[in-house]
Amino acid sequence: MKHKTIIEPFRIKSVEPIEMSTEEQRIDFLAQAHNNLFLIESKKVIIDLLTDSGTSAMSAEQWAGIMRGDESYAGARSWERMRDAVRDLTGCQYIIPTHQGRAGESILYTQLGGKGKVFISNTHFDTTRANIEYGGATAIDCLTKEGQQPALEHPFKGNIDIAKLEAAIIEHGAENIGAVILTVTNNSGGGQPVSMQNAKDVRTICDKYDVLYLLDCCRIAENSYFIAQREGAYKNVEYRKIAQEMFDLVDGSIMSAKKDALVNMGGFIALKSKEIADSCTNTLIIKEGFVTYGGLSGRDMEALAIGLVEVFDKDYLHYRITSTTYLGDKLHQMGVPVMRPIGGHAVYIDAKAFYPHIPVNQYPGQALACDLYIKGGIRGCEIGSVMFGRYDKNGELVSAPMELVRLAIPRRVYTQSHIDYVIETFEEIIKGKEHSQGIKITYEPEFLRHFTAHFERI
Ligand SMILES: *Cc1c(COP(=O)(O)O)cnc(C)c1O
Repeated sequence: MKHKTIIEPFRIKSVEPIEMSTEEQRIDFLAQAHNNLFLIESKKVIIDLLTDSGTSAMSAEQWAGIMRGDESYAGARSWERMRDAVRDLTGCQYIIPTHQGRAGESILYTQLGGKGKVFISNTHFDTTRANIEYGGATAIDCLTKEGQQPALEHPFKGNIDIAKLEAAIIEHGAENIGAVILTVTNNSGGGQPVSMQNAKDVRTICDKYDVLYLLDCCRIAENSYFIAQREGAYKNVEYRKIAQEMFDLVDGSIMSAKKDALVNMGGFIALKSKEIADSCTNTLIIKEGFVTYGGLSGRDMEALAIGLVEVFDKDYLHYRITSTTYLGDKLHQMGVPVMRPIGGHAVYIDAKAFYPHIPVNQYPGQALACDLYIKGGIRGCEIGSVMFGRYDKNGELVSAPMELVRLAIPRRVYTQSHIDYVIETFEEIIKGKEHSQGIKITYEPEFLRHFTAHFERI
């Protein structure tokens, strides 16, 4: 039997116009933005796949919640709803609201980190690494070797390498480990899921060495869907229950609610330890806001509480993951080298394999991101040596392990015809792909250079 089209499980009752543009106009726009897609105005973008962060469409229920927002400075009802929603999901008693993920990272990793401290993760997300390093600590990635091979089919390529994790703890000394941070799904490594077994194995190691264990749970609902699909024992378990089981394993979590809480702004830290929570609270009040709102308005907290429940809806998650897979599988069938299997929130193109004639120090990922914009007005994001490259003592580029371009899919925003247009744009790029030229950096700041660097075509 032929499968029916997986339709968007919602009707649209409010629309946002897209401004159309021509290829000539876009060549101009890109030059003005120094070939950096972060510097382009969104009105000049047709399909914005820069990030899935804070770009979700909210539901009618969430908009209704916005009207109910209680803006009291202390003890607002909206705070109680958010706190209870986070407690119920994470099982943590101590909840700290923050205006987004990195604000929580700054607070938490300042407490746990500092000079001499080491953090170990499957892959540290860019702001996570930056916050850890900014405080003087070291961030080590221990991704499995399967996770480092873009073309390999494997169900859980987000898993942390347990042997490498243990070796790193022994090498640096358990007393110097700030925390082990498991990122689910693994954003920088390809939006790939982490298995429950892996999360359990990390618990065993953290118990053995008495090391703090944290979950970066930005995409916990998407990860739970993959566990239900791919990890036998969880086949008939509700997605929310799977998430709760994973939360039970850890000492605390940190979330950018701009992902799986389906809101445009928000975040939190959830902790089981009162002692760590108390030490974070001081910084929270100085930097973010009072303990019952962090950097958030009441209405934000209200929408977050609702989104955290909606995201586990089975029809939503099914549509979410299968529609991302639809884009990825089509590109794969056309011969575009993509990270396999397709992850939850994004399709990652292996730009090094797509543009084999462009050397790594001429940033093939940035070249592809620029080409997608010129040909289709599509905005993707380089995740390769522009984002993670560094320089050695002689000023030579130490490249990132992979040169990827991420097409992140905003939640509940685009329809299948938008996605078909992206696929057609790739058909056009493939035709002239050997003529695409490399990129050089003409300006860069010290931290998070991809946001503000300037580039030129070689
Ligand atoms: C987005 C993200 C963060 C940072 O959150 P912001 O809200 O962008 O500050 C941290 N970790 C992961 C895995 C993320 O995806």
